[in-house]
Amino acid sequence: MRSRLAEIDATRYAKTRNALTGAVTQLSPYFRHGILTEQDLLAYLNQATDADQATRLIQQLTWRSYFHQVHAAQPEHIWQDAEPYKTGWQAHDYDPTLPDDIAQGQTGIRLIDQLIRSLLKQGYLHNRGRLYLAAYVVHWRRVAWQAGARWFLQHLLDGDIASNNYSWQWVASTFSNKPYIFNLENARTFAGDALDCEHASNACFEATYDQLQAKLFPYQARGTKP
Ligand SMILES: Cc1cc2nc3c(=O)[nH]c(=O)nc-3n(C[C@H](O)[C@H](O)[C@H](O)COP(=O)(O)OP(=O)(O)OC[C@H]3O[C@@H](n4cnc5c(N)ncnc54)[C@H](O)[C@@H]3O)c2cc1C
Repeated sequence: MRSRLAEIDATRYAKTRNALTGAVTQLSPYFRHGILTEQDLLAYLNQATDADQATRLIQQLTWRSYFHQVHAAQPEHIWQDAEPYKTGWQAHDYDPTLPDDIAQGQTGIRLIDQLIRSLLKQGYLHNRGRLYLAAYVVHWRRVAWQAGARWFLQHLLDGDIASNNYSWQWVASTFSNKPYIFNLENARTFAGDALDCEHASNACFEATYDQLQAKLFPYQARGTKP
């Protein structure tokens, strides 16, 4: 484990972590399976790096602790919407079942199918890839976050019910103030060469945020569907 920790570059992490090709640690499966604890990583960073350099990584690690604390406080709520959707749609408007084309990575949308293939083959996705996939499932396909969260837990090597379910709810807007969406420009900025972001195979994401908002959430402004 020490050699794995020695590979961490906290400075590059802070600068590049948002990019799909950024210097993220990929330590999550070790946390998930108890090979590494948050205290181990903090102790390592404390002795191996400058405190300022490690700030961003420590902040990200805090999300894990936070989701675990929320889950520990109310474990019986882990599959329930923490709050209503802020999309103008209600919970019953969302499909409770994950469509087969998503489960099999055959949506026909190139960047989404590439992310699904990584999930199925490697059991790992960069955080931004998880955000894109979750946003597509919940907002473009209007599938309930619970169906997507269950699917992720079946395939992720770091599948962790607290981080996973509350992250899905954050995207869905049942654990945040607004739905998370992205457009093709965002994917081109952060995916680099890691995903095929050509217009022709990803046309549903080629729009401004205002256009997407109007298309995906037509009743959002009035609160709910008439
Ligand atoms: C829809 C969705 C589902 C997710 N499901 C899981 C899951 O099942 N298990 C899981 O561990 N994480 C999950 N995450 C959080 C995050 O994507 C992963 O922890 C991170 O991508 C793991 O890669 P890494 O170890 O390279 O992270 P790094 O960026 O290197 O971060 C170091 C560690 O900090 C913690 N961490 C970093 N970012 C987050 C975050 N946003 N939320 C919680 N912890 C974080 C992780 O323990 C991670 O290993 C999910 C995020 C989303 C958007």
